[in-house]
Amino acid sequence: MGVRSVEEYTAHVAELLSPLLSPPPVRVDLSDALGRVLAEDVHSPVDLPLFRNSQMDGYAVDAASVAAAPVTLPVLGVLAAGPAAPARHTPGTALRIMTGAALPEGADAIVPVEDTAGDHRSVTVHRAREAGEFVRERGSDVRAGMLLLSSGNRLEPRHLAVLAAVGLGAVVVRRRPRVAVITTGAELVDAGTTPKPGQIFDSNGLALASGARANGADVVVVQRSSDDPGVFRALLARAVSAADLVLTSGGVSMGDFEVVKDVLAPLGGQFGHIAMQPGGPQGATVVDGVPVLSFPGNPVSTLVSFEMFARPHLRAAAGLPATEHYTLPLAGPLRSPQGKRQFLRGRVAGDAVELVSGPGSHLVAAMAWADVLIDVPADVTALDTGELVKVVPL
Ligand code: AMP
Ligand code: MG
Repeated sequence: MGVRSVEEYTAHVAELLSPLLSPPPVRVDLSDALGRVLAEDVHSPVDLPLFRNSQMDGYAVDAASVAAAPVTLPVLGVLAAGPAAPARHTPGTALRIMTGAALPEGADAIVPVEDTAGDHRSVTVHRAREAGEFVRERGSDVRAGMLLLSSGNRLEPRHLAVLAAVGLGAVVVRRRPRVAVITTGAELVDAGTTPKPGQIFDSNGLALASGARANGADVVVVQRSSDDPGVFRALLARAVSAADLVLTSGGVSMGDFEVVKDVLAPLGGQFGHIAMQPGGPQGATVVDGVPVLSFPGNPVSTLVSFEMFARPHLRAAAGLPATEHYTLPLAGPLRSPQGKRQFLRGRVAGDAVELVSGPGSHLVAAMAWADVLIDVPADVTALDTGELVKVVPL
């Protein structure tokens, strides 16, 4: 693979990752379904309300018995919400009733307690009521068999509410894309430990794993490899057996110990340079049917690669809306290399976007302080204050 444009490589990656978009369905309990994407249409198994019930705390009556209001009626009992044998209403009387309690057979209206005077023995109804007033009819919200939610719907709390209300305990959703992460480098140690001379903390493992998770994936393994091909090969085997997508960092450029490239290129991986900065060296391989995207190890390169090549596909697979790109005027001038699409770290300040720091792809703090990437086209070498640039929200 020679130097490719970002656009060409993006299309290549999209093709490799397209199986993520049609994952097998899985059944999950409603309590685990928040944020999941329905893999089937859901029809209501029941009418909602399940039974005819009172919309108010008040008195159950029949409209005929209060037509000549004001009238005083004897109160024959109290109906609370909750399990109870069906009650029966006698014309010319009232039953005290609470919101949600089943209407007694024969009653057809509720007089809210605010519109009455009386006690538990008798009640005075001040004015006539129409049949049906403050009565929640069975099936007035949902009819059994009605389409409630369609396949593809991402489940928010309000969707879970209606699914629970119709009594469904589980739903069929898309399986989340399973992502495995392998970082590589003999120099890497865990944050929270003490590095020996020459060692550095592994930040890409957490960046990629949390990035995947934040965009709807299940992260199934996060592993770290030395620069030994045997070690990497073993971790790779484990990753492809567990995941739908493997992300690797490091070991893809022009050095002497490029373990990722050395192992994957002979398996048919395409490794080469993309006309972008940061994130130029990239690799894409399919191992045992599982796509493996290999990002360069510099922390900013890894993050930018994830934004460009992994995030959009993970979001689509998870049913999350695509990240909207937009344009903003530059707060100051900038320069960019000819022939490379550049992604600069930017921060939105008022109505403009300012550069956070220089272009070095090891500048991980500047990446943290940025809230957008400024996307400078390959053929643009200089931009002035006020010129519009495309920004990618982080
Ligand atoms: P590489 O792509 O393996 O040549 O790594 C490029 C640079 O990124 C080197 O300075 C590495 O030490 C650094 N690097 C590689 N992997 C990581 C990682 N997981 N976390 C932080 N820095 C890394
Ligand atoms: Mg390395």
